Amino acid sequence: MPRIRVHNKTPSAPRKVAVERTLDPENWESFRTLAHRVLDDAIDYVRDVRHRKPWQPLPDFAKASLSADLPETGQPLEQVYREFRQNVMPYPLGNIHPRHWGWVNGTGTPEGLLSELLVATMNSNVTGHDQAPVWVELQVIDWFKKIFRFPAAAGGLVVSGCSMANLTGLLAARTYVAGSHVRDRGLTGKGAPKFTVYGSSEGHYCIPRALDVMGLGRHAYRAVRTRPDFTVDTEALRLQIAQDRKAGFQPLAIVGNAGTVNTGALDPLAALATIAEREGLWFHVDGAFGAAVCVSERLRSRLKGIARADSIAFDLHKWLYQPYGAGCVLVRNADNLRRAFAFDAPYFRPLEGGTSRAVTKFNDLGVEHSRRFRALSIWFSLKTRGVKTFARLIEQNVSQAEWLGRRLQHSKTLELMAPVALNVVVFRFNPGGLTPDQLNLVNHRLLIEIQNRGIAVPSSTHLNGAFGLRLAVVNHRSRLDDFELMAASAETLGAELLHKMSKPA
Ligand SMILES: *Cc1c(COP(=O)(O)O)cnc(C)c1O
Repeated sequence: MPRIRVHNKTPSAPRKVAVERTLDPENWESFRTLAHRVLDDAIDYVRDVRHRKPWQPLPDFAKASLSADLPETGQPLEQVYREFRQNVMPYPLGNIHPRHWGWVNGTGTPEGLLSELLVATMNSNVTGHDQAPVWVELQVIDWFKKIFRFPAAAGGLVVSGCSMANLTGLLAARTYVAGSHVRDRGLTGKGAPKFTVYGSSEGHYCIPRALDVMGLGRHAYRAVRTRPDFTVDTEALRLQIAQDRKAGFQPLAIVGNAGTVNTGALDPLAALATIAEREGLWFHVDGAFGAAVCVSERLRSRLKGIARADSIAFDLHKWLYQPYGAGCVLVRNADNLRRAFAFDAPYFRPLEGGTSRAVTKFNDLGVEHSRRFRALSIWFSLKTRGVKTFARLIEQNVSQAEWLGRRLQHSKTLELMAPVALNVVVFRFNPGGLTPDQLNLVNHRLLIEIQNRGIAVPSSTHLNGAFGLRLAVVNHRSRLDDFELMAASAETLGAELLHKMSKPA
């Protein structure tokens, strides 16, 4: 031990200093008054969302105010809140609105609003330690193990979203296959395995990004071609694995899509599980939104084979309707998470009692050390609604997407561009007689028009080079009328745009 020098001046008794600052309010009662108003405003905001436009562009005054310089001194909270009400709150992307179906954006719940308040109230750091939030997260993980029919030995944690969940699952795969020493030496140097990971060309970009982050490089992702229904071609997959082995690569994992982001296509998970078993590869499922259908007895057969995965990544903030940002990763054998992430640090060793009694050290199961209490909102939701309500809502969204698919197939001018496998619908305005370029142009403009007029928020994609308007229905506020309004508007506006475009400028 180094000697610690003792100052020979004895400390004087603590003197009353002029001000000892804190961030707590001087007057809790005026804070309370404002806080009640904020809560009332928040409740009205959610209650009345249907009566507003899903999206409107930020006016210049808001942009100017949001570009102002670093504040040297503070203003009263009331004033900052007024600015927030004026410049921020009216200009969201719109994903809590009943007619927002862009990308895969979740809606949130009223109980989520309360749980977020309680998360900030407790401000827990859910690394580990003997505290109730750890038990809440463990309970939530247990519930999901049951939903996915994972064994008792499985484990997992709540992370920021599915990108992080996918990265976590793939890191577990890496350590499992390469052995624990990979954590010391990395994957550099002579004889280091050249890992490859397999998925479809419709896989989410966060998978190659995860490989990039892991140091394997994006080329380690083998984007296997798909069948006409956008599911992975398992024959092509097998060939690619064989070819890579011959060329000296070491196949590491197969990633199956439980709902591709583009079209909601469901890869044949059981077939992928079998290939993974035969080839001795880790089987990971990216179920960002689609895995949620496992809560429904009626729909879960579409994901046959998901229970055979070594790891599943899914979002809570998409089709489980929770506030951003929360996703979850489950690993069939929790030890594989611990092997991939556990650290021993003298300042973080479990003790026999007190706060540091070991319950589960979540920081041993993932990348993050300090962790937000992300499990609370889903805990609230599952307890207040029951898993059955989630099943009915997810079934409702699937029926709505299927209804819209039929509506589009019966339209004279709108065209369904991909089968509705689950809850994603891709379509375009196609009255006939237009070239591919003209079709892309008119549909590009049509989408912007639908968004700008505040009708609805679909997003876009390209399928085989053709521009399409894309909806992912993960919205518990949407009604059939909302889809009808969007479809009817697309028919009218498409015709109007075409008329304008055909007139010489
Ligand atoms: C959204 C999505 C992701 C990424 O999830 P985040 O929560 O946005 O990080 C990954 N895969 C699929 C299929 C997705 O839809």
